[in-house]
Amino acid sequence: MVPGARLIVLGKQGAGKGTQCMRLSRRYVLPHISTGDMLRAAVKARTPLGLEARRYLDAGDLIPDEVVLAMVAGRLDQDDTRTRGFLLDGFPRTVAQADGFDELLKPAVIDLVLNLVVPTGLVLARLVSRRVCEDCGAIYSTSTPPKLNWTCDFCGGDVVQREDDTEEAIKNRLDLYDSSTAPLVARYEALGKLVEVSGEGSPGDVANSLNAVIDAYQHGGGFFPPTPPEHS
Ligand code: AMP
Repeated sequence: MVPGARLIVLGKQGAGKGTQCMRLSRRYVLPHISTGDMLRAAVKARTPLGLEARRYLDAGDLIPDEVVLAMVAGRLDQDDTRTRGFLLDGFPRTVAQADGFDELLKPAVIDLVLNLVVPTGLVLARLVSRRVCEDCGAIYSTSTPPKLNWTCDFCGGDVVQREDDTEEAIKNRLDLYDSSTAPLVARYEALGKLVEVSGEGSPGDVANSLNAVIDAYQHGGGFFPPTPPEHS
C-alpha cells in the first residue's frame, strides 16, 4: 500500500483520466482531485465561482489560471491531502498553472506524472458515447451503461451526457489540449517526472499498467515521508 503520493494524471479529454483516477484513488487511498468535477459541482450549486465558471465550461474554454489555482490551493489545504497526498485529474492544464502549482507545493514536489496516451480517433469515439453521474462523477458509456435506467450504480444519481460533450465543445477542448496542455508533457519529462502509459485497451488493462508504474516507483523508495524542507 502506498502511504501517500503526489501524482498528476495527464492526457487528452477522453483518454480515461477520470475512470483511472477513480480506480487509483481506491487502490492507493489517495484523494482524487478533479478540477472539472469541482467546477461542475460549483455550477450545480450556483456558487459565485459556479456562476462565473459556467460559460467557460459550456464552451469548452479554460477557466482563468488564477481562479483554478486558488480553487486547488483551497483543496490542498484540507487534512486528507496533507496526510495522504493526492491524485490530480485535469490540473494543471497550462504551463502557468504548473508553475503556480510548484510554488504552492513547496517545499514538497510532485512524485510522478502519468501521461495516458490515446490516439485522437479513439478519444473522439469515447467522448461522444460518454455518460457521467451528475452527483458522484462516475463514468459510463452508451456501451457500458449503469445497471438500471441511467441511475448511477454507486450513488443512485442521474447518469447523463455532459453538456460540454457536444461536437463543437469537444473540438475546442481538444484544440486547447494541443495548444495549452500538451507542452506540459515536455515540461515534466525534462524534470524526470513523466511516465507514459497507453490508455488504449480495457479499463482493467490500463489500470494494471498504471499500478505497475506506481508500485515500481514505490519499491524504488518513492513517496512519503514528505519531501523535507529545502532549508535546514
Ligand atoms: P474536465 O472534466 O477535466 O474535462 O474539465 C471540464 C471543464 O472544466 C474544462 O473544459 C474547463 O472548462 C474546466 N476546467 C477543468 N479543469 C481546468 C483547469 N485546470 N484549468 C482551466 N479550466 C479547467
